[in-house]
Amino acid sequence: MSLGEFELISKYFLKASGNPDLIVGNGDDAAIIHSRGNLAVAVDTLVAGVHFPEKADAALIARRALRVNLSDMAAMGAQPRWFTLSLTIPSPDPAWLERFSRGLFVEAEQFNCHLIGGDTTKGPLNIAIQMLGEIAQDQPGLTRAGASPGDLLVVTGTIGDAGAALGQDLCRGLGQSSETDYLFERYWLPEPRVEFAFRCRHLIRAALDISDGLLADAGHICRQSGVDARIHLDALPLSRQVMDFWGAESALRAITAGDDYELCMAISSECWEDVQKIARELDIPICILGEFSEQAGRQPSVTVLDSHGQPVDVASTGYNHF
Ligand code: ADP
Ligand code: MG
Repeated sequence: MSLGEFELISKYFLKASGNPDLIVGNGDDAAIIHSRGNLAVAVDTLVAGVHFPEKADAALIARRALRVNLSDMAAMGAQPRWFTLSLTIPSPDPAWLERFSRGLFVEAEQFNCHLIGGDTTKGPLNIAIQMLGEIAQDQPGLTRAGASPGDLLVVTGTIGDAGAALGQDLCRGLGQSSETDYLFERYWLPEPRVEFAFRCRHLIRAALDISDGLLADAGHICRQSGVDARIHLDALPLSRQVMDFWGAESALRAITAGDDYELCMAISSECWEDVQKIARELDIPICILGEFSEQAGRQPSVTVLDSHGQPVDVASTGYNHF
């Protein structure tokens, strides 16, 4: 970016971390970090007009961008440590940058991770965050591949809230009414289940975070684990606000809605009680939605069942970029 690139970076994005594991921080050609073991690495790009409306509040854009990456760390059972930010902006607007930077550091502090570098360029608004997290030394990391027949299919939180928010004006501010604020917040500030997943890392056999929609994402676990799954539509945890918004269609809409960033997990029935205990301690709702089973056909598949136990044909299976 032309004039002001370096002032811009140092004003809005350079912050001393004081962390002894950061050997060379922001401001050099690359950061150098000390790592004691395996690292989980994930990147997510948010494109204006695709993942969020360009005119939305910059602080919310930043907070969501960081939280979706934190959610990937949760899904791997990793503890977030470091992140980099690749920021492309149409022009260096100080008011926008101030809000963006403030939102970003609020979340970084809350989740105890540090911005250690990045890149700043001019162009259509685009935010890419790369996150690095530490995997506990006693564990190889949580993947999508460990589900076994007989495991329970479990989710955290409620499903469909963020999807319902997409039907509203995402550019308005907070504080309109508590009813619409709930869905709005669930979209902009998804709750990364970092501590829960880390503490449950020995009790969960497979996990991912729900970004494309529960149905599509449960399918990812099935494919990578080589199992089938059944989901009972009646068991779906729905917020009152989602039910008010979608009415009778709520469960069917919620099962294909994306952007919730809740965890979908395979848990053996022997571990269920211990997982529940940790969830209670952290005040996180969790819920059994179905179970995994032996793969019956040539491809692993997910069957959705209605209240009579009859299969439901769900036409759309989540958001596909292409
Ligand atoms: P280089 O010329 O080596 O590509 P840059 O001029 O792009 O370096 O960046 C200078 C320093 O500022 C680097 O340490 C880089 O990590 C950091 N930096 C650049 N943009 C950002 C940003 N958006 N957030 C955090 N750090 C940034
Ligand atoms: Mg550069």
